[in-house]
Amino acid sequence: MRDKVRCLIIGSGPAGYTAAIYASRANLEPVLFEGLQPGGQLTTTTEVENFPGYPDGISGPELMEDLKKQAQKYGTEVYPGRATAVDFSVRPLKVTIDNEHIIESDTVIICTGASAKYLGIPDETKYAGQGVSACATCDGFFYRKKKVAVVGGGDTACEEALYLAGLADKVYMIVRKPYLRASQIMQQRVMNNPKIEILFEHQTEGLFGENGVEGAHLVKRKGQPDEEKVDIVIDGFFLAIGHQPNTDIFKEFLEMDEVGYIKTQHPTTKTNIEGVFAAGDVADPIYRQAVTAAGAGCRAAIDAERYLSEKGL
Ligand code: NDP
Repeated sequence: MRDKVRCLIIGSGPAGYTAAIYASRANLEPVLFEGLQPGGQLTTTTEVENFPGYPDGISGPELMEDLKKQAQKYGTEVYPGRATAVDFSVRPLKVTIDNEHIIESDTVIICTGASAKYLGIPDETKYAGQGVSACATCDGFFYRKKKVAVVGGGDTACEEALYLAGLADKVYMIVRKPYLRASQIMQQRVMNNPKIEILFEHQTEGLFGENGVEGAHLVKRKGQPDEEKVDIVIDGFFLAIGHQPNTDIFKEFLEMDEVGYIKTQHPTTKTNIEGVFAAGDVADPIYRQAVTAAGAGCRAAIDAERYLSEKGL
């Protein structure tokens, strides 16, 4: 592996691989590190039906494998490994891989994506893969004619609840506030769906079950004089309480919003540090789609190429 490159791409979702395709075709000889979840969030999806060019849909892992092959075909070097530290105060920029190997690069394209948030209760780990999920479209299929709960009151939670209502017999929405945060149209849709029951002002204390999730212990109006314990019988427990961008290692150097999404200079992918670009979910709290991430990856590679040629690097 080279110790000094012109273009280093961190992350292997649609943004990372699209950046790699463009950067390698522009002769930047990019190196890409795949990160913790090679292929990114789409590898946990079954069918992708909204990526243009696939009228019959394509499986998430297959789509990512195709993007990887396309990037490698034009010369991108793809390695396993996770960026564990960066130093953007020096030139060339420095990125540490797996806490041991330092690579220097003239440009860095950050495509580290975002991860679903969890409540942080021990039972989420205990029942991981046994009824706890953060992706209804990935796992909903297993709950046909069953009972499930979705935690959250935003657009994602409504979308997941509606999707699950198409499969399951009963869908609870566990909402901690007395109202939903979702857009009006989504609120209307969930309220009009006879299979969905919204449990306002409820919080999850734990899960129970012998072989996987069989129910949840909830508390209604926690901390109020009329606080009440409520148990519900469910087979699946879906988290939809937002996403957390994977940006911890960049905090010292890059400007971010209050949640941690990297700020870019719209409509470019430039960050506040010259030569560092961000693309995909890591810089996109709004759209978070494979195709928008791919588009941003393309822009990041073009931005990197122009930066390198302006600087004569
Ligand atoms: P949001 O941040 O909008 O909503 C998160 C929800 O989870 C809120 O109801 C929040 O409650 C709740 N929540 C957060 N933490 C906890 C916790 N610890 N315990 C219980 N509940 C919790 O995230 P979304 O992922 O729903 O949406 C993100 C963005 O993406 C939004 O801008 C949204 O509009 C957009 N989006 C748009 C879609 C569309 O238009 N089709 C589809 C999906 C997303 P509280 O309100 O109390 O904070």
